[in-house]
Amino acid sequence: TKNNGCSYKDYQFLKCFFFLITASSWSKWYANPNSWADLSGSSCGGNQQSPIDIQPRSTVTKAIPKFAFHNYGNIDKMIMMNNGHTAVYILPGGLPKNRVPYITGGGLNGSYAFIQCHLHWGGDSTKGSEHLIKSKSYPAELHLVHYNTKYGSFADATMHSDGLAVLGIFLQTGSDDNESFKPLVDQLGEVVTDHDETTLTNIVSFKDLLPKQTTSFYRYNGSLTTPNCQQIVIWTVFDTPVEISERQLKKYRQLENAEGEHLVNNFRPAQKENDRVVFYRSSTRCEISQSLPIMSYSFASQFLAFIGC
Ligand SMILES: [Zn+2]
Repeated sequence: TKNNGCSYKDYQFLKCFFFLITASSWSKWYANPNSWADLSGSSCGGNQQSPIDIQPRSTVTKAIPKFAFHNYGNIDKMIMMNNGHTAVYILPGGLPKNRVPYITGGGLNGSYAFIQCHLHWGGDSTKGSEHLIKSKSYPAELHLVHYNTKYGSFADATMHSDGLAVLGIFLQTGSDDNESFKPLVDQLGEVVTDHDETTLTNIVSFKDLLPKQTTSFYRYNGSLTTPNCQQIVIWTVFDTPVEISERQLKKYRQLENAEGEHLVNNFRPAQKENDRVVFYRSSTRCEISQSLPIMSYSFASQFLAFIGC
């Protein structure tokens, strides 16, 4: 069996899946993303596509449990690749299964194991993120990609509508370097050319890449944002951004695509929401007990349990 034109062998599959289309020009692709729908086997013209422009006023607040992040600490010897359209970070081949980062809760059924993370960024900081909030871009967006462990492998998970859970984290620029991003950024000079890969010498801590507040986020069903745009992603977009310095972002902008051009503006434009509902998990709603001293503790705790906090 084949998927995305890749044969079904784990590590090879993973590399193939994310290296797809590097033969053709990503800069031309991003210049004309509407043509993605015309590719054979493509879902890019579907009605549940990502990213979207999130309008907070038209989201539906929902009681969703908090996320739990497991093994989200120190990962040694991660692999970083320039795949021609982004920098991808994958787990080292020898990582024991019981050390693989995974997430539960957050309204997901079961557990979703980390498979890779990557970023989208602009040629300058006026644009770069894939998701928009009130039609506003952030300079970059980090995607932490997880697959549903009930399907056994990433390859099999990509065949199902609840196969992937991607966490989207907005990056905004601040004056100081973000120390937690240093292991991801410091060796970018080793993967400037398309298909370069290297092993990170510093330990990566996923939990330090997360926003300060992970208890408020948007949730909707969508797709991969690169061809074939499979509609298999449960999206989580945190509304609290993370700060990274302009100097750190510049290192991403110095990567090159297959044509040797600067790899920038590797974001897909916002897609139609169609009849989808975007849910919002509000953290303040779950902290209502502190703001309502009239409530007895037992009533407050029952009420919070009722709304899923
Ligand atoms: Zn992405």
